[in-house]
Amino acid sequence: MDSERKTALITGASKGIGAAIAIQLAKDGFDILLNYRKSHEQARGVAAEVEAAGGSCHLLPFDVADAAEVEKQLAPFLDTPPFVLVNNAGFTADSLFGMMDDNSWRRVIDVHLNGFFNVTRTLLPRMLRKRKGRIVNISSTAGQTGNPGQANYSAAKAGLIGATRSLAVEVAKRNILVNAVAPGFIETDMLAGLPVEEIAKSIPLGRLGKADDVAHMVSFLCSDKAQYITGQTFSVNGGIFTA
Ligand code: NAP
Repeated sequence: MDSERKTALITGASKGIGAAIAIQLAKDGFDILLNYRKSHEQARGVAAEVEAAGGSCHLLPFDVADAAEVEKQLAPFLDTPPFVLVNNAGFTADSLFGMMDDNSWRRVIDVHLNGFFNVTRTLLPRMLRKRKGRIVNISSTAGQTGNPGQANYSAAKAGLIGATRSLAVEVAKRNILVNAVAPGFIETDMLAGLPVEEIAKSIPLGRLGKADDVAHMVSFLCSDKAQYITGQTFSVNGGIFTA
């Protein structure tokens, strides 16, 4: 990779919001480290789009919930750590609380919250040494307000907002800026099976969001224009929730 270019690691970027972020950051001039878990073919498609946008792209398939695997896979990149880390990997396992099984609770917390911890703690010491960096955590409207059937997901996403605030205060002196983005309903595979036309009627802007709507906010937070912003949560939700 060209040492003049900055690098961004995006977790969960084989599709959806993560893919849009990877492609947008490549357009912004970043080389991309693209994590995902199992969608190899889709990840290769995103890599081709990243390259078409002018960035190099290194595919890094691993489960963010597996701390040992995270450390092993990221070890080769620690000497020149990425300037940007976007913690985006995620999934849902919805069920009403009374019927929620152990696995649905633990796995959602493991991927969203422990995944953030595993990846961030691996990179952070090197970022601190470089005295520069941006961390963006993808939360959700579900972490800002309640959603029936999503106690596990809401807990993980609210936890990310709390972790964002504390970490931002800890690392500000080393010029590392940490923010969260809270998307509302965004058209991705994650919404498969939901009544999207009905949902759209409840959104003040009258439509679901696109992955690019989120990517544009992340792009701004990773840019030179966002040098005095840290510890914040930015909603990208069409007005469905106003703090
Ligand atoms: P998506 O289209 O289903 O994509 C999820 C991505 O995460 C995929 O690349 C998937 O890779 C990866 N992933 C899942 N589990 C992983 C793991 N354990 N380790 C590494 N990668 C993993 O979902 P999305 O809608 O883009 O969601 C992206 C993020 O935005 C999530 O954190 C989600 O909670 C959040 N969000 C989404 C919405 C929405 O309406 N879509 C709203 C608010 C917040 P594989 O396919 O290879 O498993």
